[in-house]
Amino acid sequence: MSTLIMKFGGTSVGSAGAIAQVCGIVKSYNQDWEQLVVVVSAMRGVTDTLIRCAELAVQGDEAEYNSLIEQLNSIHYEAMNELVSDDIELKRLSVQFDQYISELSAYCRSIHVLGEVTARGMDTITSLGERMNAPLVAAALREQGLAAQAIDAARLIVTDDSFQNANPLQGATRDKVNEILLPLLNEGEIPVVTGFVAATQDGILTTLGRGGSDYTAAILGDSLDASEVWTWTDVDGVMTADPRIVANARVIPELSFNEVSELAYFGAKVLHPKTLRPIIERDIPLWVKNTFNPESTGTKVIRSSPSVEGKVTAISTIRDLSLVTVEGRGMLGIPGIAARTFAAVARQGASVLMISQASSEQSICFVIPTRTVAGVIKSIESEMELELSRRNIDRIWAQPEIVIVTAVGAGMRTTPGIAGRIFSALGETRINVIAIAQGSSEYSISIVVAEGDADDAMRQIHQEVILNG
Ligand code: ADP
Ligand code: ASP
Ligand code: MG
Repeated sequence: MSTLIMKFGGTSVGSAGAIAQVCGIVKSYNQDWEQLVVVVSAMRGVTDTLIRCAELAVQGDEAEYNSLIEQLNSIHYEAMNELVSDDIELKRLSVQFDQYISELSAYCRSIHVLGEVTARGMDTITSLGERMNAPLVAAALREQGLAAQAIDAARLIVTDDSFQNANPLQGATRDKVNEILLPLLNEGEIPVVTGFVAATQDGILTTLGRGGSDYTAAILGDSLDASEVWTWTDVDGVMTADPRIVANARVIPELSFNEVSELAYFGAKVLHPKTLRPIIERDIPLWVKNTFNPESTGTKVIRSSPSVEGKVTAISTIRDLSLVTVEGRGMLGIPGIAARTFAAVARQGASVLMISQASSEQSICFVIPTRTVAGVIKSIESEMELELSRRNIDRIWAQPEIVIVTAVGAGMRTTPGIAGRIFSALGETRINVIAIAQGSSEYSISIVVAEGDADDAMRQIHQEVILNG
């Protein structure tokens, strides 16, 4: 049985014109595959606007959040009116839109009254973007004569209750997907599934984290034993760098699972970092393609790529980070300082992106998201109260506005000279390297630079080790 999962991102469904383009793509591949599943994101910008609504509600800015709700309403109505002409379809869609919009108003009102929003509440609110869009895309596909049906992934994907970054439970998800999607697929229907959205075993809405629709496609690919997963986006494939920053970035025709995992983990937004987990487990070929240039081949991601060992294939960045340093001359003699430091970090739920090479043995440095810094420093200070009072630790401080730049490629660590070339590329433009990664993986080398230097560092490394490389 040939089964294809196609996921369309926010820009790909960002307007009536874009959705019409999506319909054309689905129609053109429908004949080639026995089973076709479509996964859709919210329309471009909608998730951001929903988050903004909740934030404004916390601040009590009723006029502003109501105006955003009105905007969301009209974006969807406008697209509907352009794409759908059948009266019954129009009626059915507007009933759904009205219901979701009034739910959103009610949530915002209660957040306003309470003055706070929980992670669970945030998931309920942000899920609305995909839950409004899937019925719209399904109706647009039916208008084109395709048998499509919107499916809320809250019915399919079962997760734990880590709200805003939930983890799927594989067995339970597989059971639901087979129970709900298989009968549809066997009848030749095209399910149009909401990306990003899931639910706990008790049916409480969760989400898979920002950009999570890619992950939805991979989870469905796993549960359905899909032949291939294709993610359709707004660039020609996975590129040697983010084309928004590096204008002469090139499309990479073939990449390995490991290289793409590393790129996604180190910030390349083109795929959600967890997407590769189910894909690797089942060895499912993954393609990244451009909705607005469907003739271009795109990028094929497979188990092993033709990448040359020791050659950099792509560069990515993670932003909004801080470098935290725990330092003190008395630290050396005290056992377990590092373990206690990282335990204190973990208690804050902060993820350590990189442990950097210390400038001396009298300090521990690591990189965490800036939004977690205040809590982390407090937590370490309370853990090290005694050491601080005895002056074994002098201070715990953070350098904000730093960026991790990562060069990804097969056999990076074991190839001599790569790091040297990166540093000399940066040296030529006098970019200061704040830190380098210790024990980086086989597939990457990471360095830390100041926010203001990040774009130049990207362009410089790209030129020297990819284009000239
Ligand atoms: P979608 O909404 O389709 O999921 P995203 O905005 O999440 O799209 O991801 C696509 C964007 O990722 C591109 O527009 C591009 O700016 C950015 N990007 C960052 N790094 C890369 C890369 N290495 N290759 C391609 N795109 C990248
Ligand atoms: N709509 C969600 C987001 O903007 C998920 C996605 O687009 O993949 O994060
Ligand atoms: Mg995305």
